[in-house]
Amino acid sequence: MSNSTKYVFVTGGVTSSLGKGIISASLAKLLQARGYSTTIQKLDPYINIDPGTLNPYEHGECFVTDDGAETDLDLGHYERFLNVPTSQANNVTTGRIYQAVIEKERRGEFLGKTVQVIPHITDEIKDRIQLLAKKGTYDIVITEIGGTVGDIESLPYVEAVRQMLWEYENDCIVIHLTLVPYLAAAGELKTKPTQHSVKQLLELGVQPDILCCRTEHELDLNLRQKIAKFCNVNINAVIESRDAETIYDVPLLMQAEELDKVVLEKLGLSSKSTPNLDIWKRFIERLKNPKTEVNIGLVGKYVELKDAYKSISESFIHAGVANEARVNVKWIHSEKLTAANIEEELAGLDGILVAPGFGSRGISGKIEAVRYAREKKVPFFGICLGMQCAVIEFARHVLGYPDAHTTEIAEDSTHPVISMMEEQKAISNMGGTMRLGAFKCQLKPESKSALAYNSDRITERHRHRFEFNSAYTKEFENAGMIATGKNPETGLIEVVEIEDHPWFVGAQFHPEYKSTVATPHPLFVAFIKAAITHKTN
Ligand code: GLN
Repeated sequence: MSNSTKYVFVTGGVTSSLGKGIISASLAKLLQARGYSTTIQKLDPYINIDPGTLNPYEHGECFVTDDGAETDLDLGHYERFLNVPTSQANNVTTGRIYQAVIEKERRGEFLGKTVQVIPHITDEIKDRIQLLAKKGTYDIVITEIGGTVGDIESLPYVEAVRQMLWEYENDCIVIHLTLVPYLAAAGELKTKPTQHSVKQLLELGVQPDILCCRTEHELDLNLRQKIAKFCNVNINAVIESRDAETIYDVPLLMQAEELDKVVLEKLGLSSKSTPNLDIWKRFIERLKNPKTEVNIGLVGKYVELKDAYKSISESFIHAGVANEARVNVKWIHSEKLTAANIEEELAGLDGILVAPGFGSRGISGKIEAVRYAREKKVPFFGICLGMQCAVIEFARHVLGYPDAHTTEIAEDSTHPVISMMEEQKAISNMGGTMRLGAFKCQLKPESKSALAYNSDRITERHRHRFEFNSAYTKEFENAGMIATGKNPETGLIEVVEIEDHPWFVGAQFHPEYKSTVATPHPLFVAFIKAAITHKTN
């Protein structure tokens, strides 16, 4: 282990969904503001190799990194808060751990030993935790352990943490996140679940250093003292984590509770500089005091599950702030959209975004939404499948090819305007085999996208198998849909725009993965700006 790197483990107890990801990201933000280079890692106890093959109903959106890793959506929060890219090393699952250990076993690396959870699986976990430190660029690595303490599947992770605490006692601390529920009948906050949760950790040999208590009400001194006494932590290490109006408030709430200070003290680190969160505060100030508002329709098939479009909805928040506007997102179920109800469903919207996706469910509703936006000249933003729908819609209703389609859905289409990349055709495995991660894109000068980026050379992240079929480029361009973004090496078409429209942009890549508080994504900013213009005209 690099001597200089310190480790903060974040575990959760009592219940899931306490917001470990946001607490981790907020702590990292505070440490970063003090001048410590910090990264966050998420260890997920499920057996999938990565979330790439998971249905969004399971764990929400799959977040994609520059290096093409398909990861947990918490990595999106890490990037949005820290403005530093993450990578494959920042998300590890049990599946990946076991896969690595089994591959080593097949290569004979264990020299005839019996391969066991302890030490082989726990060693692999410890190696993955320390991998980020080995890069040598981080002062502090925050490792969030997915799941809830006491789950069978998180046991090896807690055991790995126990071993690291033992081996590197001065360099590691544990923050345990718990719930302090309010019992309306008793009119009281209850600390017992927290006490039990800490007992459970203690049974596994881990004494938490800091307790972060999620609560709907103020945690008064009495309660803090009680928790401190029963759970063997200092009173200043009992941190109140009240429900916040927005996740972006959490770093400031944690700063007020001095979480970062307590962490640094326990790690034996001093505060290198006075934390300056001015930019963050200004962001919140603008977020809470918008000068105008716009209504944006988000058309997708997972709208009942907002986490499925997490990065998109956060990008709207960033772009709204950049435009001093509140972005009201109307979630529109693509399966319910038909030619008959489209006017009614999309009436009053200042902009329409058609979301990414896979498969045929809801596709005709997405195509109807594109048609509406194109014909009514409502600002339109299509992302990945949304861009492909824009191409299909244009082929059907402008070029006059009624069966134009993507070969993902209709292999026998006589006009396959979206088709599979050659190199994808031979692939049969579903996991990690798409066109993934960052690729360069050359934009046409003066196009809407080049104007938005204020640059004609960009890099954006991808996650797809199908592409604009370049056999049709000329025909599209002659009819007014222009290929304004191309991969400079392969010539693949990455952006399409309609010339004769206030703002109609389809992107084959996923801009939402790169929008952060510090750098709102230019395409989202331009889209919201166009929506404001549309509203005022
Ligand atoms: N299903 C489409 C493809 O694979 C689009 C993917 C997406 O929207 N992420 O090309």
